[in-house]
Amino acid sequence: MSDTNFKVITAAFSQDLNAATAGLLGAGQRLANDAGGTHIAICCGSIDSTLSTQISAFGDRVIAIDSEPLARAEPEAWLSCLRSISAQETPDAILLGNDTLSQEITPRLAHRLNGASIGDAQSVTIDDGAIVITRSVYGGKAIADIELTASPAVVWIRAQSMDPADKNAAPGTIETVPLNESADLQSHIIDTHDEVSEGERLEDAQIIVSGGRGLGGPEPFEELVSLAKVLKAQNAASRAACDLGWVPHSWQVGQTGCKVAPQLYLAVAISGASQHTMGIADSKAIAAINTDRDAPIFKHCQFGLVEDFQQVVGPLRDKLSDLL
Ligand SMILES: Cc1cc2nc3c(=O)[nH]c(=O)nc-3n(C[C@H](O)[C@H](O)[C@H](O)COP(=O)(O)OP(=O)(O)OC[C@H]3O[C@@H](n4cnc5c(N)ncnc54)[C@H](O)[C@@H]3O)c2cc1C
Repeated sequence: MSDTNFKVITAAFSQDLNAATAGLLGAGQRLANDAGGTHIAICCGSIDSTLSTQISAFGDRVIAIDSEPLARAEPEAWLSCLRSISAQETPDAILLGNDTLSQEITPRLAHRLNGASIGDAQSVTIDDGAIVITRSVYGGKAIADIELTASPAVVWIRAQSMDPADKNAAPGTIETVPLNESADLQSHIIDTHDEVSEGERLEDAQIIVSGGRGLGGPEPFEELVSLAKVLKAQNAASRAACDLGWVPHSWQVGQTGCKVAPQLYLAVAISGASQHTMGIADSKAIAAINTDRDAPIFKHCQFGLVEDFQQVVGPLRDKLSDLL
């Protein structure tokens, strides 16, 4: 089908063209191409900024907005901005990333535009004129194809689940729209505290070393942190370990935590409950260390070791530091 009036907006909140933004742009570009329509990429920058120039390689049009509240990732400011652009452009779909800001504003934006909202999409396609998304349901035990009947479809997509965009034959146009900075904001950020340890976001990490309740306390997590340093990896945890206060909640992976898609996910003393494994299903390879040979995690992994983690983690770190 071809619908030259079909419009897809992608809204990238990141200040650089990272892997998550590239995947978001890819999702928008493919959806617009499949419908024969237009891909409009919105970013925070000015017409001549590096970011808007980079993004113009992947969008038919780029709307760049130079605004302090947007750069500070103020949810209210982004909501108001996307609402006013949508009122002007009347898009069929608005795609957002999987950061907390996107997850917060997706349903609110859909409500304000009388559209439909859904999150954690692993694919976004068009079928006979209708937008269909695919996502896991029932704690990862099934996959559902869901048709969004109200328009616009406002969707946040799972990190690293989408291939990056291809470069356009010619760069898209870059334009600005006026932003009403004095719009009445219901709330605004007064300060931010970084809870995550240094390094990239879990969603963007290529290697993750994750620990569970079987570690027995917060101290063994220090061993996992030193193993992660050697591997240039990020650390994560099961909900049980986070709920016990051993590590920050920002480390949580699973149904109610981050959905990750690394090249390697190492699960140490994690049983592999479905609520945990649904968050790691997109990993390229999963390895597990667990004393219980019947632990469900072994059904999901390519490499499994039935062993006490204390016998493995320290020696593995020492061996790897010699090698890497
Ligand atoms: C609505 C809902 C949402 C949820 N969301 C999430 C979520 O997002 N993420 C999440 O993780 N969970 C989530 N849960 C919780 C989930 O059901 C499990 O309770 C949790 O994942 C278990 O964490 P765990 O594997 O660390 O602990 P356990 O299930 O207690 O497993 C510990 C494992 O460690 C092993 N072990 C013990 N000692 C050692 C040792 N010395 N060496 C090696 N292995 C050892 C044990 O054999 C066991 O397999 C959710 C639950 C509900 C109801």
